[in-house]
Amino acid sequence: MQKFLLVLSFILIAITNSLSQDLKSPSDFLGYDLGTQFSRHHQVIDYFKHVSQTLPNQVLLEQYGQTYERRPLYMTIISSEENIKNIDQIRENNLKNAGVIEGNSTSNNPAIIWLSYNVHGNEASSTEAAMKTLYTLITEKQDLLKNTVVIIDPCVNPDGRDRYVNWYNETSSMPYNTDQQASEHHEPWPGGRPNHYLFDLNRDWAWATQIESSSRLKVYNTWLPQIHVDFHEQGINNPYYFAPAAEPFHEIISEWQRHFQTEIGQNNAKYFDNNGWLYFTRERFDLLYPSYGDTYPTYMGAIGMTYEQAGHGRAGLGIMNDEATELTLKDRIAHHTTTGLSTIEMTSQNAEKLNLEFKKFFDNTDLKYKSYVMHGNSDKIEAVKHLLDKHDITYKYAAKGKVSGMMYGTGKEGKYEATEKDLIVSTNQPKGKMVTVLFEPDTKLNDSITYDITAWSIPYAYGLDAIASKQEVKTSITTKTPTLNTKDTLGVGYISAWNSLKDAEFLTALLQKNIKIRFNEKPFTTLKPELKYDRGSLIITRGDNKSSSDFDDIIIETANLHKRKIQSIATGYSKSGTDLGSPDVKLIHKQKIAILSGKSTSSLSYGELWHFFEQQLHYPISSINTEHLHKTELDKYNVLIIPDGYYGDVLNENALKKLQTWIKKGGKLVAIDGSLKSLANKKGFALKTNKVKDTTKTKSNLVPYAEREREATNKLITGAIFKSKVDNTHPMAFGYDKSYLTLKLGNDSYSLLENGYNVAYLEEAPKPISGFAGKDALKELGNSLVFGEERIGKGSVIYMVDNPLFRSFWENGKLFMVNSVFFVNNNRFEL
Ligand SMILES: [Zn+2]
Repeated sequence: MQKFLLVLSFILIAITNSLSQDLKSPSDFLGYDLGTQFSRHHQVIDYFKHVSQTLPNQVLLEQYGQTYERRPLYMTIISSEENIKNIDQIRENNLKNAGVIEGNSTSNNPAIIWLSYNVHGNEASSTEAAMKTLYTLITEKQDLLKNTVVIIDPCVNPDGRDRYVNWYNETSSMPYNTDQQASEHHEPWPGGRPNHYLFDLNRDWAWATQIESSSRLKVYNTWLPQIHVDFHEQGINNPYYFAPAAEPFHEIISEWQRHFQTEIGQNNAKYFDNNGWLYFTRERFDLLYPSYGDTYPTYMGAIGMTYEQAGHGRAGLGIMNDEATELTLKDRIAHHTTTGLSTIEMTSQNAEKLNLEFKKFFDNTDLKYKSYVMHGNSDKIEAVKHLLDKHDITYKYAAKGKVSGMMYGTGKEGKYEATEKDLIVSTNQPKGKMVTVLFEPDTKLNDSITYDITAWSIPYAYGLDAIASKQEVKTSITTKTPTLNTKDTLGVGYISAWNSLKDAEFLTALLQKNIKIRFNEKPFTTLKPELKYDRGSLIITRGDNKSSSDFDDIIIETANLHKRKIQSIATGYSKSGTDLGSPDVKLIHKQKIAILSGKSTSSLSYGELWHFFEQQLHYPISSINTEHLHKTELDKYNVLIIPDGYYGDVLNENALKKLQTWIKKGGKLVAIDGSLKSLANKKGFALKTNKVKDTTKTKSNLVPYAEREREATNKLITGAIFKSKVDNTHPMAFGYDKSYLTLKLGNDSYSLLENGYNVAYLEEAPKPISGFAGKDALKELGNSLVFGEERIGKGSVIYMVDNPLFRSFWENGKLFMVNSVFFVNNNRFEL
């Protein structure tokens, strides 16, 4: 027996040895020298599988999700054999340090570093570097793994990467051409940067609207690394950028987080200096907006950093930059591999300190506000809960009683009587700092030059009233009873209120089932039972749906599925207001929607619309390429949506004529943001740009050269929140209050419509409620349009100066889009 065991263990050792001998470098495995080809996503995954199968005691590969195009999302956990044996304990210890799970952690936990590659699909060198980093780490740099756990996500955005790589492979010359003008350096629309729905995943960490982000957050929050690096690429003439980051830094960022990213940066600099590679730090890429791959991890306790290599979708396998130096994929891989390994080295050298400081980060006793209390529509509260769940942020319902604190919207101290329906989010929890960032009523900026929007507070975005309290607000235990409706075959029909996106989902689900639904343009009170219904309520009558044999079953099932409370009514005769058969109770047509896409449209804006209709409303759309607009039979559609974009010649005189002919017949054009530029001041459209006379214009500009960049910020609005006045008797604003907080993304300004409906607008001398707006930009915003409708013939143009679907996170704006499509000027023309 003993002899047998001896033989067995000998065989085992032999297998292990031969396995590690079989470990191949990326080049050997792929069959080409790394950097001479772009590797397709599946090849990269195959390499990671090869390494984890060869060294199973050191490299664990886990699938954490799947993209919209069904590519797998993988993370790799790499450490010493000893650590991997105890990997669950190490992970749990770390969560204990953060206070996410209870109990005392053991000391000497390894430090955890997470490296995310290729979030922007066409910044394609980084995924190649991920393979080289992995290989170097487990061959030459084993020492670093004694006290670190390295997590590598080789490709955060596989759909975008393969879009780029496949395009490059089919376009590139052989050998590659370094001429900047060659086709291989000019990606076609939409490029490989975004994911399937054309979202920028590096703006989506906090909102997690995309499947890649929400899947990643699930695993990220079970690890909470001390260091996170997000690998990117920038323009071909900017050599390399690494930490420390640029101002503004969010005030919540700790001294340690500021300090240690400088140390890491200096270590990177050492290697770059030794190789004679150029780099810069501190000038760009600030740490403010919470939805980036550097800020999100930072607000979750890590040192979160962005590394940017020269390259991007332009560089291909090699390109001559403006300084006549060839930039090759091989160079790019070498740089990203170097910073990755240098950062792991710093992590290893400071593992103990990192853990100590990490633990400190989660002490939230000093935060100014202790509780955020939100009050309003229950669907909106549910939507906030859904978002908080994605981040493992806990919440409770309020206990009845007085709450005092800072009132959102006014910025003044006030009191408020809380009810048990109000949601409380406390900062006295491990994710308290992230709570502070996501809920802060006004972002503090110590520098006005930022890379992104400056305001995002959740109560504003979700359309909820809120108060920020310096005391812990009392909570209660409320159990919610699920909405369950029962059928009433004797009634004349059912009515459902119209307040939120959930109501919109209910509407589109019924339309898809060919149920006929009406909505009221005037309020009314039903007779039996006596209930008041606001404008825009959904009225589903038996009379309209005679052809549907299982009418009641369909309505009840759909309502229960969507958790809608519907009311059965006994008679169409109203106690007051319009009866159900009134001409003011209008049939909602099953709108045929087209959306402009392709060249000249903003791929982000198109993607937001595509995702909104397909993934949220589950309602079909036809995407019309701008190149085919001239031959598109518009009469096949009720609605045409033009996303934000730079249309130039696409919306030329002929195109506008074609659109107007279609609108006059009853078509509805919805124009968003930048597309308004192509309609403004044009014959046949009422939209006019709002220009305030600039008296300074004739003066010579004496602003010094060095101050021009800063001076330019006076004209900027970088995502700031403004209060607009709303005409909520107009169908576009059904379900809204008399004011609406709009997220203004730029300084475009249009006059109020003389001929048309000004549905939402800014009044005289507006000031942002939150976020940055330059003083010159503000001057032009007084009395300007936010949303409006112009009637042309039988049809309409709907102007959306602000994009309500921006990054899909401004939850309270989305109903304007639904209303525009289904309620506004609902006179259908024959299709
Ligand atoms: Zn990038």
